[in-house]
Amino acid sequence: MAKGDSEKHKAATKLVSGGRREELTGGSVVNPPVWRASTHLYPDVAALEAGKKADDERSFFYGRRGSPTQWSLEEALTALEPGAHGTMLYPSGAAAINCALLSVLRPGDVLLMTDNAYDPSRSFADGFLKNLGIETRYFDPLIGAGISELFCEKTRAILLESPGSLTFEIADIPAICSAAKAHRGRREIVTLLDNTWATPLFFTAIEKGVDMTILAATKYVVGHSDVMIGSVTTHKRWWKKLRNSARQLGQVVSPDDAYLAARGLRTMSVRLRAQEAVALEIAHWLAEHDEVGMVLHPALPDCPGHEIWKRDFAGSSGLFAFTIRGSKAKAAAFVDALELFGIGYSWGGYESLALPVHPERDRTANPWTNPDAVIRLNIGLEDVDDLKADLASGFAAARELP
Ligand SMILES: *Cc1c(COP(=O)(O)O)cnc(C)c1O
Repeated sequence: MAKGDSEKHKAATKLVSGGRREELTGGSVVNPPVWRASTHLYPDVAALEAGKKADDERSFFYGRRGSPTQWSLEEALTALEPGAHGTMLYPSGAAAINCALLSVLRPGDVLLMTDNAYDPSRSFADGFLKNLGIETRYFDPLIGAGISELFCEKTRAILLESPGSLTFEIADIPAICSAAKAHRGRREIVTLLDNTWATPLFFTAIEKGVDMTILAATKYVVGHSDVMIGSVTTHKRWWKKLRNSARQLGQVVSPDDAYLAARGLRTMSVRLRAQEAVALEIAHWLAEHDEVGMVLHPALPDCPGHEIWKRDFAGSSGLFAFTIRGSKAKAAAFVDALELFGIGYSWGGYESLALPVHPERDRTANPWTNPDAVIRLNIGLEDVDDLKADLASGFAAARELP
């Protein structure tokens, strides 16, 4: 374990000191530098053979197994999840989700997936997994302990996302994980959570019963909208399966990207707290607008699962949505009128973004029937009054339409 990963410290402290590996820092460098290599030279054949046999996760063997720069980030991420044993890195959040699923699923299995899951996770299940003979069944994000009624002999895994990144329902993760653990089937049921919205700062997933917790680190960990990277953190029971399948699938992240993600991680708590505060102020301000139907923000009472958010989460991040009354065309007019909010995918960076989103296109278990247009906001680090003035110009433009 790297220096600074002490269990006794609070999360913000772990962000600062986690993953400070001796061979990278020599005890004298604060920020672990980039360690680039594919090939490692051994002093002799005996050492080469010993290296292979030891299969030590933490001694340099070959570049595809990572280098101290990647391990430093892995250790820093693991330290944030009480009860976790290890973390694997992947070249994107999507790769992290898909490889985690492939590490537990076999042909003939049934995967249960929350109906508000990230759209590429659905495509992977409906395309790639289906072709492997794995069936996916979608369920209501608010199902809670009722999920046990969906279990069958073939159920192998549950993919959760809470809140959903378009509609923001909060799932009862502890109840779903308890139901999975209580199930006495042929094989146990593995729970996987896409925890990108909350990060381990606001939701400590392993401690709450999740087996594998996944981050699109592209978002809040990196925080600067310039790197693609994903992670999966798990406890001891699933660690070897996760690690071996990542290796078999040839997953590796460049040390430069790992370095940038580790650098972003250092300031994640201040960024998240600042983005949380501005997002809350804007969400409450939006809720007062006549044009606004619903504000879909887990910390606001309108949001389905709000009570569970209060019970389980330590905070709310900077991503939420709201509905705008009237024709769907209003959403495009609103977003086009904004100057500070960029129009772009992804989120979690320091810049604000706005997008019309279409939850009705991706739901099958419980259709999204709200007829109003939905706009999703990523709140960045700009001044709150400037952001409100920008949104006011969006409302002015939308008012021009019926
Ligand atoms: C962006 C995102 C992902 C995928 O991450 P990438 O790094 O873009 O592949 C997964 N889940 C959620 C909730 C996301 O927002």
